[in-house]
Amino acid sequence: MSNSNRLCEQVPAFGEEDCESALFRAKWPDGFRCPRCGGLDFYRIVSRGRRVFECRSCARQTSLTAGTILEGTRTPLVKWFQALFLMQTGISATLLAELIQVTYKTAWLINHKLRYAIQVHDEGRPLAGDLQLLGDFYARPATNRPLDPLTYRDEPAVAGASVDPDSGELAEVKIKKIVRRDIQSPYVRHRFVRRIFVEACGRGPFRESSHRDR
Ligand SMILES: [Zn+2]
Repeated sequence: MSNSNRLCEQVPAFGEEDCESALFRAKWPDGFRCPRCGGLDFYRIVSRGRRVFECRSCARQTSLTAGTILEGTRTPLVKWFQALFLMQTGISATLLAELIQVTYKTAWLINHKLRYAIQVHDEGRPLAGDLQLLGDFYARPATNRPLDPLTYRDEPAVAGASVDPDSGELAEVKIKKIVRRDIQSPYVRHRFVRRIFVEACGRGPFRESSHRDR
């Protein structure tokens, strides 16, 4: 079975209405609310080929995608949701285009917008509570000894995890790629990890579990 067929089989079977329901619940968890007058009642209508919600009080029209990265899209919501699901595998725009059957340009745009939204969301939610940090190298073969010299393929990264105080298990993990000079200087690296994981949280305690300096 090809890689693309295997990926396709993992995508949950949901339809356009399922996606609309999910967006509705995310946008208005307590029910529809008019963005102009706060009215609670609406008509569902089709305006210029788009499905919109029209306020019964002031006739203001709004859509599920207004004010989101999906605003103005002509691509069916179900393809956006499929793309979001497939992105967990670190998929390329070329393969995404093939799997959800859109042009490369559309796939690239969807990929780009979803990654941006995830990044913004992620940066707005720093790790909190008891944190553990680990500095290490991506792309380094597992057989390398910790003190082997840095090669051009090694990519320094730092991973931070918040730990559940009761169970001691990992609650949430963040990984950041960092530039080489930051990991070569313990002082700079320490300041860096404090900035992204601790000062952003506004609290400690902070424990660096282990690292590989050279
Ligand atoms: Zn209104």
